[in-house]
Amino acid sequence: MNDITERLSKFAPVETDVSLAQMTTLRIGGNAHYAVYPDNLLALDGIIQLAKEEGVAYKVFGKGSNMLCSDDYFEGIIIRLDHGFNDYWFDGDELTAEAGCSLIYMSQEAMKRGYSGLEFASGIPGTIGGGVFMNAGAYRSSMSEIVEAVYVYVDGNAIWMSAEECRFGYRTSIFKEHPDWIILAARMNLKEGETEKIRTLMDDRRKRRLASQPLDKPSAGSVFRNPDEVPAWKLIEGIGYRGKMIGGAKVSDKHVNFIINEDGATAYDFMRLVNEIKDKVREKYGIDLHMEVERFNWH
Ligand SMILES: Cc1cc2nc3c(=O)[nH]c(=O)nc-3n(C[C@H](O)[C@H](O)[C@H](O)COP(=O)(O)OP(=O)(O)OC[C@H]3O[C@@H](n4cnc5c(N)ncnc54)[C@H](O)[C@@H]3O)c2cc1C
Repeated sequence: MNDITERLSKFAPVETDVSLAQMTTLRIGGNAHYAVYPDNLLALDGIIQLAKEEGVAYKVFGKGSNMLCSDDYFEGIIIRLDHGFNDYWFDGDELTAEAGCSLIYMSQEAMKRGYSGLEFASGIPGTIGGGVFMNAGAYRSSMSEIVEAVYVYVDGNAIWMSAEECRFGYRTSIFKEHPDWIILAARMNLKEGETEKIRTLMDDRRKRRLASQPLDKPSAGSVFRNPDEVPAWKLIEGIGYRGKMIGGAKVSDKHVNFIINEDGATAYDFMRLVNEIKDKVREKYGIDLHMEVERFNWH
């Protein structure tokens, strides 16, 4: 055990030489030197201080459902919050949930208690932290509509930020500009509803997702943001890329804005496909597509 592993292990369980592919829904990526699983703020703070002292890079992960990790080795620490930070409580229609709570699970817990507002998240396989970070959304709703305040670790302090201060926008928030801030929890305002109605809506949407998304294959959800003028899928369809495959990465036949890991894809395969799509869409439509999936550990 090296010195850093030993020191990290004082704060939380540690793994070394961990596959990033195993930590992402896309199942792509090289290894990371360390992965730690803190379950409280003191441990998290200790890990960050240690990383800073030792000059080791770190990255917070939720469920890795919006990440494309490079094939390279990450000489740093992955801090996973989805194993520890998963307490939550309801106070009437107000839900406070720690960053590692699953969005799918929280939407079910709200439904069971007859609270409406999280239905849109019932098929988003990320965490509260990841959802706040990118203002995750679906069916014309998003986190910003329910989040009232976010508890954030900033420069060694934990502070509450109002929704306004989070500067939510389409799949974005202030947290994208501050990668060193860590979302610890969010307070959300739900509305009273009827469990059966909420359940029916969620079931309906699950069926729609099953019918329209390649959920049987590893992916990171929609690859491109929708440009203002036209949905990304129409552009990808328009260049004839449905089913297009490079190496092990394939444009899904079912949903052309999904690139799936069909057969042992590398990050390099995935990005070749992304870049081809961007070039062809620019050539044909004069529109620049931008990735919604985040690239991590690219140099
Ligand atoms: C099948 C499928 C369907 C999907 N459908 C949708 C959809 O309908 N709508 C949608 O918006 N997205 C969708 N996604 C994408 C993804 O699930 C969301 O973006 C989700 O919010 C990511 O959460 P995560 O916990 O997995 O974040 P990760 O992928 O682990 O991390 C994403 C980013 O958030 C940061 N982050 C995570 N947690 C924290 C934290 N606590 N503090 C600070 N930063 C943090 C990470 O550092 C990283 O930069 C889908 C993905 C898949 C695979």
